[in-house]
Amino acid sequence: MSNKVLVLAEVREGVLRNVSFEAIAASKQIADGGEVVGVLIGDGVSQLAGELIAYGADRVVTVEHPHLKTYTSDGFSQAFLAVYNQEKPNAVVFGHTSLGKDLSPKIASKLQSGLISDVTEIEGSGSAAVYIRPIYSGKAFEKVKVKEGITFVTVRPNNIAPLTKDTGRTGAVSALSVEITNLRTIIKEVVRKSTTGVDLSEAKVVVAGGRGVKSAEGFEPLQQLADLLGGAVGASRGACDADYCDYSLQIGQTGKVVTPDLYIAAGISGAIQHLAGMSNSKVIVAINKDPEANIFKVADYGIVGDLFEVIPLLIEEFKALKV
Ligand code: FAD
Repeated sequence: MSNKVLVLAEVREGVLRNVSFEAIAASKQIADGGEVVGVLIGDGVSQLAGELIAYGADRVVTVEHPHLKTYTSDGFSQAFLAVYNQEKPNAVVFGHTSLGKDLSPKIASKLQSGLISDVTEIEGSGSAAVYIRPIYSGKAFEKVKVKEGITFVTVRPNNIAPLTKDTGRTGAVSALSVEITNLRTIIKEVVRKSTTGVDLSEAKVVVAGGRGVKSAEGFEPLQQLADLLGGAVGASRGACDADYCDYSLQIGQTGKVVTPDLYIAAGISGAIQHLAGMSNSKVIVAINKDPEANIFKVADYGIVGDLFEVIPLLIEEFKALKV
């Protein structure tokens, strides 16, 4: 039997999230020459199908319904299960995002399947694929292989490179009509916190501040640096607890997990709970007055100094480089 992989695409404010393309790349590896079917769920999302195909999906199934305009686990699980029952894939891939983390266990339990969550790397392909995922807050990695049944994985954003976009690729797009019933939650309105626009969990550059930033105003130079590098601002819990910034910026064990190409930690001591959310970043730069700060143990580059002197210098240098 040839492999067929269903991959759920995520749409936010009418735009496909990057993690969808990364999930397609993972699906290609799992399909090992088999078919990758993108799934688009929402209200007014079908026009995005071509982009999924350009990023490697062989085919796309869309489910449109007014009740699917905003995510609810009841609505999306009904829609996704209907596609699953139509397609009968051997594997399912979601992004390890807030949506994916909510929906994947629900779907996996309905399918009586196991779930390999938060995969950061896949070795091999097809039925021989080995899934690598961090455990114990990132202190160790485990390798998981599927012996039987459906392969169901969620992939951590920013870890699996998407395929190169090819607008010349073609594939069929079909609509599946699903009756969405018995919703226990009706979303009346979504009120978004104002952000700079770059999604923290998908940002390639994160500039994070800790208690050493000392005030909400202290975050301004960090925001400037992040804007200059096309990145997002994050924070330690220390900074959030001190009310210097919103909890939506918190990175760590009880916050967001990020794996950007560049993580700049300013005025963050490097508590184990913070490291759990950022230690897998590709390059870590730490700025701290205390040369003994724990953050230096995970940093690729350490700057011992006052962040209020160092960050403006970095801004000046990056401006001069015209990044
Ligand atoms: P501090 O530890 O106070 O460090 C501030 C640092 O700033 C110091 O190293 C200091 O040398 C430096 N500094 C001060 N001024 C300057 C300056 N001008 N220039 C440069 N450096 C300066 N924490 C998280 O971050 N994320 C989590 O998800 C999280 N979850 C937790 C869950 C549990 C169950 C528990 C118990 C704790 C959790 N914590 C979490 C809290 C964590 O243990 C630490 O308390 C927190 O990370 C400390 O934040 P901080 O590094 O900003 O502050």
